[in-house]
Amino acid sequence: DPRLQAISDAIRVIPHFPKPGIMFQDITTLLLNHKVFKDTVDIFVDRYKDMGISVVAGIEARGFMFGPSIALAIGAKFVPLRKRGKLPGKVVCEAYELEYGKDCLEMHVGAVEKGEKAVVVDDLVATGGTLRAAIKLLECMGAEVVECACVIGLPELKGQNRLNGTPLYVLVEPT
Ligand code: IMP
Repeated sequence: DPRLQAISDAIRVIPHFPKPGIMFQDITTLLLNHKVFKDTVDIFVDRYKDMGISVVAGIEARGFMFGPSIALAIGAKFVPLRKRGKLPGKVVCEAYELEYGKDCLEMHVGAVEKGEKAVVVDDLVATGGTLRAAIKLLECMGAEVVECACVIGLPELKGQNRLNGTPLYVLVEPT
């Protein structure tokens, strides 16, 4: 797909953020380019539009930058998965470890119904720990996670291996 090179080129790398030694993949520069931003969303929309998906679950914060556009275009609802203490209603929570730190992901009770088909969206997959927690939240409410979708994947961390068989779809890898 010729659009992928432009997507890859639009992602900026910031060395030593948020900690020394981390090469931070910054997708905010992709969002500044309308064509590249739209192509990114369109690729996901084309993939998921005819799969009977009724839930797009986005992971805070950068999953919120892609998920709602995909949800609107495929006719699905958007469900925010947020860090601990941000959602005001009754939540289910799932702890997870990050590449740099620890956290807990939460989802509102009642956001999804049993049997709904979901796709989980985030900007980047590293170890897969965050996506794994997201899958668990949706599955514990009876939804089926058809796939996880990320703009960037770090292949050396083998995130796919932590998803218990749920497919992972990534557009690009760091250059
Ligand atoms: P994982 O749980 O190890 O797969 O880490 C993925 C999570 O950390 C995602 O929510 C990403 O947004 C975030 N993350 C880790 N490294 C980066 C990066 O270089 N750029 C943007 N987000 C990152």
